[in-house]
Amino acid sequence: MRFTMLASGSKGNCSIIDDGQSSYLIDGGISPRTLETHLKISGFTPQRLRGLILTHTHGDHWNPRLLAYCAEKKIPWYLHKTHARTIYDQLPEFKAFWESGLARFYLPNTPFETAPGWNWFPVILSHDSSETFGFRLDIKNAQVPCVSIGYLADLGIWDKALVEQFTDLDLLALEFNHDEDLQKNSKRPQFLIERIMGNEGHLSNYQAVCFLDYLKSLGVSKLPKHLVQVHLSEQCNSPEHAQAALKLFLKDSTINMRFQTAQSKKTTSPINLLEKNLFAFAEHLTENY
Ligand SMILES: [Zn+2]
Ligand SMILES: [Zn+2]
Repeated sequence: MRFTMLASGSKGNCSIIDDGQSSYLIDGGISPRTLETHLKISGFTPQRLRGLILTHTHGDHWNPRLLAYCAEKKIPWYLHKTHARTIYDQLPEFKAFWESGLARFYLPNTPFETAPGWNWFPVILSHDSSETFGFRLDIKNAQVPCVSIGYLADLGIWDKALVEQFTDLDLLALEFNHDEDLQKNSKRPQFLIERIMGNEGHLSNYQAVCFLDYLKSLGVSKLPKHLVQVHLSEQCNSPEHAQAALKLFLKDSTINMRFQTAQSKKTTSPINLLEKNLFAFAEHLTENY
């Protein structure tokens, strides 16, 4: 059971969860060629792709050419009805995709299954797109022990109720979008700075750490075993800034959490969620793996 960020950030987002037989993508903001290249680098094959779960319709999360690719390969997209409307408005070809049964709709706060034992739970996030979702995925089937994954990117704020739905995870992919000082002092137009730092923008490094801090207050064991820092801004963040914020939190020796930082220009190393001896896997991994 592996999780890999194939692409992350404002130029495109795509991650993959693979149980050795089936793979699902979360978001598809990259071209088919980039997808196939990243799959190859990470040791996956397109033949195992069973579906794509769309979080929202900002351009860094879906790609019209990838939709055509999925249509050709009969790979369904799981999305909210408002996403379908937005995509159709931009891409009339979506009608044929929908008519062929490849658009499958999920509802907020309502679990859905994409394959036996793959249970997804969509939660609404505060973000300036048509409905935006984060997901908790619990995989329970006869082949593998139970694995739980959380995915939260593109959110301006969090609240306690949201955090409480993301306890006891094997892995959490959490947005560390920007360093607040770099954002405030950037040469970006004021409206953009306000948009990103607003309640419907993106989570800063500080906000992400506060999220983890609240999760820890519920019990150290509630923290995820692995954390992936995602959706880093290229202009107003760096892996060093995001990691420095996280390392302050990890100074608490009671916390036993591994982390990885996704970067826009490279595919991160796959995280094997069932690997008993994580250090045996270390030679393939970067950062603190
Ligand atoms: Zn967005
Ligand atoms: Zn985004």
